[in-house]
Amino acid sequence: MSDEPLSETSSSSSFVPVQLQDAIQVIDEFKNFNNEILEYINKTSISNNNYHIISVFGSQSTGKSTLLNKLFNTNFDVMNENNRQQTTKGIWLAHSPSISSTKGQLLNKSTNILVMDVEGTDGRERGEDQDFERKAALFALSTSEILILNVWEHQIGLYQGANMGLLKTVFEVNLTLFGRSKLEKKNSADHKVLLLVVIRDHVGNTPIESLSNTITQDLKKMWNSLTKPQEFENLKFEDFFDIDFHALNHKILQPEQFVEGVEKLGDRILDENDLFKPEYHHNIPIDGWTLYAENCWEQIENNKDLDLPTQQILVSQFKCDEIVENIYNEFLNKFKEHFRAIQDEPNFEELGSLFNDLKNDILEDYDQLATKYNQSVYESKRSKLDTMINSKFKDVFDIYSKQLIENSKLTFEKDLVALKGQNFIEESKRLSSNILNSIAKNLELISLNGSIDYKDLTTTFEKDINQIILKQQQIELDNIINKSIKKLNNNLTKYMQFEINDPNDKTWDNILNKFNELIKEISIKYPNNDFKLNTTKQQNEESITKFKFKSWNNLYENIHKLIYKEKILNLLISKFDDKFRYDLNGLPKLYQNSVELENNFKLAKDQALRILPILTLAKLSDDSEIIPDFNIFDTNLRTKYGLKLFENEEEDDEDEDHQKNLETNAFAEIINESEKSEIYIKFKKEIDAKFIETKRSIVQHITSIPYYIYIIIIILGWNEFMAIIRNPFTFALSILLLATIYILYSMNLLKPAITIATKLIDEIIIAGKTKLKEILIDDFEIQSRNLSKISGIKHENHEEEEEINNKIEEPKYEENIELEEFKKPKVIVEDISEESI
Ligand code: GDP
Ligand code: MG
Repeated sequence: MSDEPLSETSSSSSFVPVQLQDAIQVIDEFKNFNNEILEYINKTSISNNNYHIISVFGSQSTGKSTLLNKLFNTNFDVMNENNRQQTTKGIWLAHSPSISSTKGQLLNKSTNILVMDVEGTDGRERGEDQDFERKAALFALSTSEILILNVWEHQIGLYQGANMGLLKTVFEVNLTLFGRSKLEKKNSADHKVLLLVVIRDHVGNTPIESLSNTITQDLKKMWNSLTKPQEFENLKFEDFFDIDFHALNHKILQPEQFVEGVEKLGDRILDENDLFKPEYHHNIPIDGWTLYAENCWEQIENNKDLDLPTQQILVSQFKCDEIVENIYNEFLNKFKEHFRAIQDEPNFEELGSLFNDLKNDILEDYDQLATKYNQSVYESKRSKLDTMINSKFKDVFDIYSKQLIENSKLTFEKDLVALKGQNFIEESKRLSSNILNSIAKNLELISLNGSIDYKDLTTTFEKDINQIILKQQQIELDNIINKSIKKLNNNLTKYMQFEINDPNDKTWDNILNKFNELIKEISIKYPNNDFKLNTTKQQNEESITKFKFKSWNNLYENIHKLIYKEKILNLLISKFDDKFRYDLNGLPKLYQNSVELENNFKLAKDQALRILPILTLAKLSDDSEIIPDFNIFDTNLRTKYGLKLFENEEEDDEDEDHQKNLETNAFAEIINESEKSEIYIKFKKEIDAKFIETKRSIVQHITSIPYYIYIIIIILGWNEFMAIIRNPFTFALSILLLATIYILYSMNLLKPAITIATKLIDEIIIAGKTKLKEILIDDFEIQSRNLSKISGIKHENHEEEEEINNKIEEPKYEENIELEEFKKPKVIVEDISEESI
C-alpha cells in the first residue's frame, strides 16, 4: 500500500506528503524533529482542540502499521511479507481521512484523528535502541490520548513476553511525566492515558474477559514491581492508566474475521462515549501542537525533565504572545485610522463608544484565537493586550481630557464671573457640581469603562475649581467693598458740599456723624460681616478693615477736593457780601454815611473770617481735631489696600516737610498756614476794593454841599417859598409832592426813589453840561467823544472817575488785623467799573 518515496522520507527532506493519509516522519531514526510537521498539520481540517492523537507502540513486525492502515485508512509503511526487511525506524504521523467501521468507511470529520506509528526495535537488539525506545515512549505519552499496545494471544500470561520490557519503559516514563502533578494535584492531576490492548491473532478459544484479567493482573504486577522514587511509592496504576481491550483474529488465517474485528474497533472509536475521554487530552490547540511536540522532543532529547504542564504553558504563552502581537498590530492600524486628528469639540458619548467598540472588537478577535489555550495564560495575555490597548487609548484620552479640563475651567470661570456675586454661595456650588459631574461623566465615557484611571484628574480638577471659586470670592468681596466705597463717596460728597457751602461751628461734627452713619450702612447691609460669599471670617474682617481704611481715605480726599484756596476765598467773599451788601431782609443795602459803612464793613469782615478756621482745620465743636481710625498716610497700608501713595502730591521742596506731617497726624489740616495767609491777603484785597467802591458811591451821593448853603437858600429864597405857598397852584403842587414823599417813605421806597431821582438829576446835569460844551466849544474831538459817549462806551469816563478817585487817598476804617502788611491796604480802583444799583 505504501508509495515508494515514503521510505526515503527523512527530516532533512522537504517532503510533505501530498495525501494527508500518507505518513510523515515526526522524529527520524537520527532523533531529529521534522520542521515540516506544521505545514502538514495546517493542511488538515483540524481546528482548536477538536482532535485526537492515537499512538501505537510496540516492537517491530507486530502488525502495528497493518492495523493502523486498516483501521484509519492511512498509508504507513508496512513490512513486505516477501522480503522481511525492516521498515524505517522513527515516529511517523498521519491524518486519518476516514475510519473503517461496520457501516463502512466513515469520514473522519468530527473526530479528526491523528495517528502516530512508533517504530520500535524488533526486541532482539538492545542497548542503543533502548534509549530510542524510552524517548519514543516519552514522546508518545506526552502527546497521545490513546496508546495502542499489541499483544499476541499466545504470549499472554508469559511474563517474559517481548512487550514486557517495553511496557516497563512506558510505565516508568509515565511516572516521570505525570507523577509530580498527580502528587501535587496540579493542573493535569486528573490526566490519564488509555492503554488499548489489542489482542492479536486471537483464536477465540479463551474468552476475552479472562485474557483481559490476566493482562490487567500482569500489568499491575509489573507496576508494583517497578522501582519507584520514594515519593511516588503510593501512586497506583489506576491513577495513571485506564485500560481497555480489543481482540483481533489472525490476519492471514482468518482474514474476514480480522477485518470484522478492525471494523468493530472502528465503531468503538467513532462512538464518542466509548474510548475517548476528556482527561486523556493534552489540551494543546492544534496550532500550538507542533511547537509543543517539538519542545517536548527537545526536552526528551536533551535528557531534561519533561514537565508537561510547563510545556503546555510555554506553548500557550508563545502562541498567545504571537496572537497578541498580530492582534495588536491590527489594532494599531485601526487606531491610526480613527484618531488621525483630534476634534476640537468632541462628542464624548460617540468618542467613548468608538473607544469601546474598537477595544471590544480587538479583544473579541483575541478571544477567538486564544481562548483555546491554557486558561491562565490566555487570561494573562488578554490582560496584557488589554493594558497595551488601554495605554494606546490613554494617549488619546490624555489629549481629550486635558482639552476638556482646560475648556471646562474657562467656562466655569466665565460662569462664575457672570454671576456678578448674585447668590454666590448657592450658584457657585451649583456650577461647580455641574461642571464636576459633567467632567466625571465625560471622562467616564472615554475611560473604557473605567479601565483608564481618571480619579487623579477629577481630584485635581476639583481642587482647581475650588481654587477658582476662592479667587472669585475675593474678587466679589473686593467688588462689594469698592461699590460700597463708591456709594459712600457719592453720599459723602453731596453732604459735604452742602455743609461746606455754609460752614458753621457744627460743620465738622455733622460731617463726621454723617461719615460714621455711612460707614455703619455696610454693617447693616451685611450683618455679622457676612458678605454671603462663603469667605472666611478673617477675609471678611480684613475687607471691613479695608472698607474703613478706604472710607477714611475717601473722607480725606473729599475734604481736599471740596476745600481749596479759591473755594475758601469765594466762600469768604460771599459770606462778606451777605452781610455787607444786604440787610437782614436780603435787600441791597444803601449806606447813608461813612460811619454806618465802616461799622458794617467790620461786622461783615468778622463774620466772614469766622469761617476761615473752620475751613482750614477739621475741628469738632469740642475743639478736638478729627482723628481717623487708621493712619491713612501709612505707605504700607496704602499699598496693601491698593491706594495711590501721597508722594509727589505736594511740591518737591515741601516733600520732607510733608513727609514729616504725614507722620504726625495731618489728617485734620486742610489748608496750611502759608496758604491761609495767602487766602487772607486776597480776601482783604477783595473786600477793601468793595469798601472803597461803596464809599465812593456815598461820596457821589452826598457830594460836598455844605450845610450852610441850605441856610443861605432858605434865607435868600424866603420870598420864593412864600410865593409858592401863597400861590394855590404851587401850594397844591407842593402838597402833592409831600404826599408822594410820604407814601414813598411809608412804603420804604424813599431811599431808592431819592437815589433814582439824584441819578436822574445827575444825568440831566451831565447832559446839560455837555450840551453847553458843545455849544461853547465846537471842536471835532469833542464831537467824536460825544458820539462814542452816545454809543455807550464807558471807558471814556475814566477822566471823571480819576477826578473822584483822587479825592480818596486812604479808607477811613479802623485796622484790627495783626498782619503788618495789611495795615495799609493798597487801594486799587482802576478795575472798578461803574456800578448800577
Ligand atoms: P510492524 O513492524 O509492527 O509495523 O508490522 P507490520 O505491519 O509491518 O507487519 C509485519 C508483518 O506482520 C507483515 O508481514 C504483516 O503481513 C504481518 N502481519 C500483520 N498483521 C498480522 C496479524 O494480525 N497476524 C499475523 N500473524 N501477522 C500479521
Ligand atoms: Mg510498522
